[in-house]
Amino acid sequence: MSAEIAAGGRPDGVAAEDVRAGDVRAVDFVRPELRALPVYHLDQTPYVHKLDQNEVPWDLPGRFKREALRRLEGRTWAFYPDFHGDELRRRLAERTGLDATNVLVGNGSNELLGITLEALVAPGAEVVSLLPGFGLYDMFVRRAGGRSLFLPPAQDLSVQMDALLEEVRKDPTRIVLLCTPNNPTGAAASVDQIRELLAVLEAPLLLDNAYGEFADEDVLPLLENHPHLVIFRTFSKAWSLAGLRLGYMLAAADLIEQLIKIKLPYNINHASAVIGEVALDHADWAERCVRVLIGRRAQWSDMLRRHGFEVFESQANFLLARH
Ligand code: PMP
Repeated sequence: MSAEIAAGGRPDGVAAEDVRAGDVRAVDFVRPELRALPVYHLDQTPYVHKLDQNEVPWDLPGRFKREALRRLEGRTWAFYPDFHGDELRRRLAERTGLDATNVLVGNGSNELLGITLEALVAPGAEVVSLLPGFGLYDMFVRRAGGRSLFLPPAQDLSVQMDALLEEVRKDPTRIVLLCTPNNPTGAAASVDQIRELLAVLEAPLLLDNAYGEFADEDVLPLLENHPHLVIFRTFSKAWSLAGLRLGYMLAAADLIEQLIKIKLPYNINHASAVIGEVALDHADWAERCVRVLIGRRAQWSDMLRRHGFEVFESQANFLLARH
């Protein structure tokens, strides 16, 4: 059976009685808007300096790894971990000054952004975001059954908050997905700009703050007066744990309560939970690394400029440069 497939099932123009069970391919039922997606891929060519995935250059020190392994050995691997990584939620709440009911942990922050969109996006609804942006957003929106409305980039690749505000004013009921500091530029919106957006927006603002620890301003205080703000953060960057797949979100407790219903239970395995806890126990180490990176970011951008590169202003742990 080679006929093209109409949305949601049987091939176009093929009557039900003409289809035999043996001819049916599962792939024909994949929704067309998902079939149109490219596979997320980065060329993993041999490298001297690994710059392609915005990780930090240093691994968790061996003494912390050994401590984590000891703790991991003490867990019963034959038993499931707890449902929602509650110990990590509690520690992150302590660190951020929130309540554990405002925190959810995930298998990378991307898991949490994905399920949040799935919970919030109505079938066919538009989700507003900006270009350039993180390469996976369109996939998340499509998977959630929505449509991406990504506004075009400006010449200087800054975060186009004025254009976003103008678009939101046209219809403030659409969900906005904002990445700040932004991937792939490192450009950031100011807290004042985000507050202005929140004042107009009558839908959730999903704020991807994966590089938030490296930014000039902290967006977390905005949570206090804005129950429609949802912040996503990760252990993949500032905490040197990209290989562990650990992220978290901060939001109103009533939203987290709903998301817990659709999140997979046990999404944080024993290893991720224990290693995340060890990292948080030694938060001063990660904080020091962040300070060093911020210092080097300034030095590196000066150096690259001296060598003739155009370097974009960055509030992240990476620099975008053009030659
Ligand atoms: N958001 C942005 C903007 C990113 O650049 C990345 C990683 N490149 C992520 C999220 C991924 O986060 P995690 O590893 O927590 O899934």
